[in-house]
Amino acid sequence: MIEINNLVKRYGNKFAVDDISFSVNEGEIVGFLGPNGAGKSTTMNILTGYLSCTSGTAKVGGFDVLENPLEAKKLIGFLPEQPPLYLDMTVEEYLNFVYDLKNCKLNRYKHIKEICEVVKINDVFKRLIRNLSKGYRQRVGIAQALIGNPKVIIFDEPTVGLDPKQIIEIRNLIRTLGNDHTVILSTHILPEVQAVCDRILIINSGKIIADEKTENITRVVEDNRRYKVKICGPQREVLDMLKNKDGIVYAEVMGERENDSFTYMVESAPGIDIRKNLFFTLAERNWPLVGLESMGMDLEDIFIKLVDRNNIADTSRKKRAPVDFVLPGEADDESKNKQE
Ligand code: ADP
Repeated sequence: MIEINNLVKRYGNKFAVDDISFSVNEGEIVGFLGPNGAGKSTTMNILTGYLSCTSGTAKVGGFDVLENPLEAKKLIGFLPEQPPLYLDMTVEEYLNFVYDLKNCKLNRYKHIKEICEVVKINDVFKRLIRNLSKGYRQRVGIAQALIGNPKVIIFDEPTVGLDPKQIIEIRNLIRTLGNDHTVILSTHILPEVQAVCDRILIINSGKIIADEKTENITRVVEDNRRYKVKICGPQREVLDMLKNKDGIVYAEVMGERENDSFTYMVESAPGIDIRKNLFFTLAERNWPLVGLESMGMDLEDIFIKLVDRNNIADTSRKKRAPVDFVLPGEADDESKNKQE
């Protein structure tokens, strides 16, 4: 249904999108995951005809978005990061306006009514968009994307700025729409794609670094065995103990000191939960444990683990600059604070 081949978008010397290729089959819900600035919006904007590309091709339903823009656009409903709403219109006026813009031939009243039911905006139909909450505005944005019954729906960061309840509602809505549409969901929030998508493409610095089933990515994240441990005791001896302890495969000092405590990173062996045993060992030595937390994984870690898992021979495993993205439990705060 969607085919992107060797797509490049360059601004001066900077590659916003650097030779990416992927395809999305009919009926799939695919997550496009990457940190801010990775190239997600650029790709979505090219796919939806808002931006031209420097080279490469993007096709929707077999139609090239540059050569046959009208046919391609008829197949796509797009919710950009900033929904294109006219605040001085009522929801009713706005949806009728979009209906006319799209030159929609379906029964006007019935079609708009059905969409309002799906996205649950019947109760605000007569209200000015200006007076709606961010959550309702987002629903109106989704409603405009659905006008004309496009086969493909593209969401760009659909939950940024929403509160936790609204986030759950919008994710549920996207999942429901996925039952009879092909969906691309672009986001920097890992739990979002985990909650909604069948497949995840990870993009970083304009390049696709992973294309995996969601369950594989989830397995990798759950297999995280690194802990940040704060221990009160002599640094060298504590580190020696950690390095030699059964069940720990790696330990290092993290360089953080608080009074007489140091913070260490430890990684346990596969299938071993080191925490209880470590606690008792430290107690025996009279080195109080003052902090223990599971460490998050960045995209780089996930990528390396996927490469390991897939036994791909490696040129890319040298540690690159870490990339931050949002892990389970952090999503709500982050979604309010998207930085460009
Ligand atoms: P994302 O959606 O993943 O946050 P974008 O696609 O918006 O990332 O941006 C990718 C990169 O391209 C970023 O480094 C961004 O600064 C750069 N970029 C985007 N638009 C422009 C522009 N009009 N001019 C120059 N650089 C741009």
